[in-house]
Amino acid sequence: MEHNYDDDCIFCKIIKGEIPSYTVYEDDDVKAFLDISQGTPGHTLVIPKTHVKDIFAYDADLAATVFAKIPAIARAIKASDPAIKGMNILNNNGTVAYQSVFHSHIHLVPRYTDHDDFG
Ligand code: ADP
Repeated sequence: MEHNYDDDCIFCKIIKGEIPSYTVYEDDDVKAFLDISQGTPGHTLVIPKTHVKDIFAYDADLAATVFAKIPAIARAIKASDPAIKGMNILNNNGTVAYQSVFHSHIHLVPRYTDHDDFG
């Protein structure tokens, strides 16, 4: 797939390898990497490789491509550690919804106990 990049976008720089990241999964369409601020251990962001600002900017094909990959990535993270008992999957859109990086991303937040601190 041909990708559009935004030269000022921090996540586009991660895709291009200009900023380091810890890659969890990568293919032609998406990249999954550890969030720099780990809500819980293994907190991962999944991003489309093409620059898209938020959920409102996806076309149906890109949405189908990106969101169809979430279950397998979630399963792989869960399988990586038997201590992971569940997972929150979150997607913030717009500053009022706490989006701070304007390259769409899906948070995968592993949950370990009933009593960990995240949200
Ligand atoms: P919020 O900051 O409220 O979580 P977002 O949903 O937009 O808003 O999430 C952006 C996420 O990107 C944050 O969790 C932040 O820790 C993460 N982040 C910012 N810069 C980097 C980076 N260079 N590498 C990995 N994660 C990053």
